[in-house]
Amino acid sequence: MIDLRSDTVTKPTPAMRQAMAEAEVGDDVFGEDPTVQRLQARVAHLLGKEAGLFVPSGVMGNQLAIRVHTRPGDEVVLAERSHIFHYESGAPAALSGVQLRPIGDARGFLTGDDVRAVVRGRYDWEPRTRLVCLENTVNKAGGLVYPLDLTREVAEVAREHGLALHLDGARLWNAAVTSGQSEADLAAPFDTVSVCLSKGLGAPVGSVLAGEAETIRLAQRYRKLFGGGMRQVGILAAAGLHALDHHRADLATDHTRAHRLAEALAVLPVFEIDPVSVETNIVIAQTAMPAETVLERLAEHGVRMVAFGPHTIRATTHRDLSDADVERTVDVLTQAFG
Ligand SMILES: *Cc1c(COP(=O)(O)O)cnc(C)c1O
Repeated sequence: MIDLRSDTVTKPTPAMRQAMAEAEVGDDVFGEDPTVQRLQARVAHLLGKEAGLFVPSGVMGNQLAIRVHTRPGDEVVLAERSHIFHYESGAPAALSGVQLRPIGDARGFLTGDDVRAVVRGRYDWEPRTRLVCLENTVNKAGGLVYPLDLTREVAEVAREHGLALHLDGARLWNAAVTSGQSEADLAAPFDTVSVCLSKGLGAPVGSVLAGEAETIRLAQRYRKLFGGGMRQVGILAAAGLHALDHHRADLATDHTRAHRLAEALAVLPVFEIDPVSVETNIVIAQTAMPAETVLERLAEHGVRMVAFGPHTIRATTHRDLSDADVERTVDVLTQAFG
């Protein structure tokens, strides 16, 4: 089976398993796991922040950020296209008691003016806007890179109004590769940033939330409250460190392969996609026939993708694919839909 459902399907390599087996560990709830501490410091440094916190998932990273920046009854402004709005099980309401204000365009971008237009809290009867969340790359928009100048514009408006700014950077590594800008530059306008180690980087588990030391200290308390305090978890942090050392540069290959798939889809009448819009490792295409039918037909030929709407499919490239897998997928698409 060629699995293009997500970049989370990768398995740890033998070298990564070796690093995990050899990891020095301790009880991280007591702050005594040296490998976790190394990972947290490493990611904080890469993102240009004071401190980092290892968490079990990207969702927890985002939800901790929402928890530390808000109080119950507050409002969080974010893109309608965002992961937090669509795919985090209603957690902002359940865990932080906040309401969401989804805005922005089909690319998942908000401008400074977009944010300025919805900020409120002046009157007693209005919710108080406290936080803006952006996403880079934008998953639901096909892995688009959030332009840095637009990020800075939003940051300026956030600062004007005393709002906190969080980045869901699950795939910030991909954005850095495509834009040629460092992760630290892309993270600079934000108070907090969460990044995933378990997506394109290929670690089995884990994300890191980074920000100012005081903010991260508070997030650590809420991590425990959310059930995310882990013990000898250096065994997983070691996988993250290994991924950062050895897998980051490979993301460029994922991007090339995604582009190859987009070009193959673009020539088939069943699909609608502009290959230029594929900037990273996510390929989203509209389908003339129901997405489920497309997926069934692909599965019959040993290729798996996911539906992203009734007439939308998503394919995601990742490090466990080979060039042959990509060419085989192109052949299958051409045979089944040509
Ligand atoms: C995957 C993802 C997350 C976090 O997902 P987890 O499965 O909880 O690690 C957050 N944001 C975006 C944009 C994602 O793609």
